[in-house]
Order: sequence, then C-alpha cells, then structure tokens
Amino acid sequence: MADIFGRIKKNVKCCACEGSLENSRFVNQICLDKLATWEYPTWGNILVKDKYPEPRAAAILCDECIRRKRKPKYAVEWNKDFSQVRYHQVEDLKDLPEIREQDVMEAESKLNFFSGVISHSLSFSLTLFTQPLTIPSRV
Ligand SMILES: [Zn+2]
Repeated sequence: MADIFGRIKKNVKCCACEGSLENSRFVNQICLDKLATWEYPTWGNILVKDKYPEPRAAAILCDECIRRKRKPKYAVEWNKDFSQVRYHQVEDLKDLPEIREQDVMEAESKLNFFSGVISHSLSFSLTLFTQPLTIPSRV
C-alpha cells in the first residue's frame, strides 16, 4: 500500500488548493456523495451495496487543506499506472443520496460473524487502482 500512496503523492495534486502533495505527510482521502463515471478511485459501502450500488467519487487533499478545512473543488480520476490523471469539478458531478447511517447499521445487524465488531470505517471499501482489497487465501 505504501507504494500506492507514494504514487498518489507524486502524480496527483491537491483537489482543493491544486498544490503538490509531495510535502504532505498524509494522503487525505475525502469521500464525496457524487457519482463516479470512472474506474479509480471510487468508494462505496460493501454492507449496503444493494441499496447504494453506484461507485462514488473521491478527492485527495493535502495536509494544509485538511487543517484549514478547505472543501475539495475537484474529484480525481486516475488510470492504473497513473499516466493519466483527470480532475472533475465537484459541482459538475451528479449528486448521490448520502448513505444513511441507519441503513448501514441495519445491514451490520444482519451479519452473523461481525455483528458489533465491524466498525463503520472498516465497512467502507475503497478502490484505489485495483480491485477492492481482499484477504489472500494462503495455506
Ligand atoms: Zn491543498
């Protein structure tokens, strides 16, 4: 994963101030309730995928903009090797309904194994540039 973040810092600019991310300590990912018409990066909630199936857009912000609570102007799109990075004006993107906390909690309560254990943040799946993370099955 460290490699992915390094590549993001190198190839992607801040979606609020348009500055470089290279001096930013963190890759701050902002989840937007906007429809993503591209492949990477997108996010969603795996627990409520039936109700909210659309891939959602994301923005990357530098530490300074996070500290100043700046709002992202753009959502970012990149391809697998980061040779193409595009920025989409947030206001041009189609709105999606906010994922309701209640729906997530209902879905969670139906899980047999993870009920009460899985946290909301863990139940979000973020696709940076490959398939959603899966646990490799090794013997
Ligand atoms: Zn910034």
